[in-house]
Amino acid sequence: MQHILEAIQADASGDEIAALQIPESYRAAYVRREDVGMFEGRESWEKDPRESLIIGDVATPQLAPDEVYLAVMASSINFNTVWTSIFEPLPTFGFLDRLGRESSWGKRHDLDYHVVGSDASGVVLQVGSAVRNWRPGDRVTVHCNYVDDQDPAAHEDSMLASNQRIWGFESNFGGLADLSIVKANQLMPKPSHLSWEEAAVNALCAATSYRMLVGDNAARMKQGDTVLIWGASGGLGGYACQFVLNGGGIPVGVVSSSDKVELLNELGVEHVIDRREEGYQFWSDQHTQDETEWRRLGKKVRGMIGDDPDIVFEHPGRSTMGASVFVAKRGGKVVTCAATSGYMIEYDNRHLWMKLKQIISSHFANYSEAWEMNRLLDTGAIHPILSKTFTLDDTAEAANQVHHNLHEGKLGILCLAPGERQGITDPEKRERIGEDKITLFQRHAASLEN
Ligand code: NDP
Repeated sequence: MQHILEAIQADASGDEIAALQIPESYRAAYVRREDVGMFEGRESWEKDPRESLIIGDVATPQLAPDEVYLAVMASSINFNTVWTSIFEPLPTFGFLDRLGRESSWGKRHDLDYHVVGSDASGVVLQVGSAVRNWRPGDRVTVHCNYVDDQDPAAHEDSMLASNQRIWGFESNFGGLADLSIVKANQLMPKPSHLSWEEAAVNALCAATSYRMLVGDNAARMKQGDTVLIWGASGGLGGYACQFVLNGGGIPVGVVSSSDKVELLNELGVEHVIDRREEGYQFWSDQHTQDETEWRRLGKKVRGMIGDDPDIVFEHPGRSTMGASVFVAKRGGKVVTCAATSGYMIEYDNRHLWMKLKQIISSHFANYSEAWEMNRLLDTGAIHPILSKTFTLDDTAEAANQVHHNLHEGKLGILCLAPGERQGITDPEKRERIGEDKITLFQRHAASLEN
């Protein structure tokens, strides 16, 4: 890949990029089918991505007509890479098997290794014969909605398509690699004021939060809405806070340390609850929830904003869902996209129906929602929440940090990019938008290390 990196760094023309030889193999982070049973008998927290994630060379797949070859400059760790690497709740090879049965192009994905990663920034190298809007040399970011348009439902909302998948999780050849194949309808223009790693960390989490709160398909937050945000300095939550502030709402962030409280205050979130300091015990044992603890949280929120939240931004799942349904305002909404702590959920249905609350499900975002999110990033209305950057060789260490909640915001991964802070093509715009805003999470993480 060295000749490709050199051409990108020399700002080669589109024609020159298009003429570059695509290598027969490339460096990637992957798990192996033969390792699926390696953690048997261990608890989730004991399963270690550093034992299962491998960095090594894999064969370059053939390019389908609707795809592009992408030189991946940077990527990021998402929680789905943690799931894949600990083989929970299911080994992702089942997804690859199913994709393999779908078409001859799908068959390419059904391999004994799974290249992971669902975010990327990079440069288009070659385009398939059916690609219209993108050219070799284009600098892009990638969203992870992997869908084709042959299902009628996709034309209403591509997230409703029966074969909708998450790239690099339910498909192979993901972004934690030096090269990838992605569908043309996953591409978005790279914001010119951001470095490769700053541009790479946003799409999955920010577009998911966008759909949950802003787009037409989920909670549809309006100006003045109060929003309780779990994990408010994490991947989803760090963008959720920005969307709420940006849309004239009032966020109440929940986090688990005083450092994170400080970080959110700097982001502009005035009301932050430190759940560790409060010591909430929503479950008194494995089978019983404690309503008095739900009430204690509700009282805390009311004490801060004078009312119950219009929207609760949910993703921890089993640990918090009972509390989330309880504390939402009469007529309010709980919007959920995940269940990190467990997916068999329990809540008191009386609090839902008697108070006319809604639970709304959401999952990633369609192309249009991802594009709208990218535009907000490009205009500087929202910012990356990159806190730390690792090399591709250290992917497993980064995934382990996310698995154990040792991070803030997003962890970036340098793939082909040889160092940080490269790829900024409009420094004036960066200055206008504000270095301090763009690097808030990076500076905070650095200050904790010093
Ligand atoms: P992060 O780990 O970056 O952030 C999650 C935050 O949630 C943590 O920082 C932690 O914050 C908080 N948290 C974790 N466990 C609990 C708990 N038991 N109770 C209360 N808070 C908790 O992850 P992401 O935000 O990137 O992803 C969160 C979940 O959403 C994952 O399960 C992921 O797979 C899923 N997801 C789903 C998507 C979809 O499209 N459906 C898209 C993106 C993510 P703190 O300790 O500070 O409170």
